[in-house]
Amino acid sequence: MRLVILGGSGSGKSTQAQRLCRYFEILQISTGEILRQAMSGDKSLESVYAKVSTLGRHAQPYVTRGELVPDEMIIDLIRLRLKKADVDCGWILEGYPRTAFQAEELDFLLDDLGQKLDWAIYLQVPEAVMVSRSLGRSRPDDQPEIVHRRVEIFYDRTVPILEYYDRRRRLLTINGDQIPEMVEQKILTLLSIP
Ligand code: ADP
Repeated sequence: MRLVILGGSGSGKSTQAQRLCRYFEILQISTGEILRQAMSGDKSLESVYAKVSTLGRHAQPYVTRGELVPDEMIIDLIRLRLKKADVDCGWILEGYPRTAFQAEELDFLLDDLGQKLDWAIYLQVPEAVMVSRSLGRSRPDDQPEIVHRRVEIFYDRTVPILEYYDRRRRLLTINGDQIPEMVEQKILTLLSIP
């Protein structure tokens, strides 16, 4: 199974990615998490990214301001990650793609790898829910101005991707404003798994 999870800040992407990974026994690839690990100098990333400290240093000014890191940087990161053997059998991408360009690049990359995306799952929640859930976390980039900026960028840059996947008949839209168990159940139902 190969899935991407789309949604704004606090929409529950990471919670659902974890649950679905457990269900399908596949790995979760979270770009936000990889960038935070790189910024904290986590050496365990070196098996995938030889230049972890450079990645962390370059990403820092963007992540701390709630801006998107440049497309080229994140595309290189995903390319290296998806080429590793541990994700040959499937994956869930969380936090990628976030721009139309990233979505197109993912399709090119999957063509190269001879792989196919099964579904793009969009967790739809009202803006007020995104903001209140994000402010309830304790990440350094969860300060009010930064959260608002991430939400704004979500509407500007990520929402257009929904149409990209919809046109390809690959989009599943789920109401993310319910308890995690219900959201997961709904996703599994739409994926036609009892
Ligand atoms: P959230 O859950 O609030 O949406 P993430 O943990 O997914 O946040 O991402 C945190 C930050 O990492 C983003 O604000 C952005 O700076 C950076 N980031 C993560 N994924 C991407 C991406 N695909 N493209 C560009 N920047 C990204």
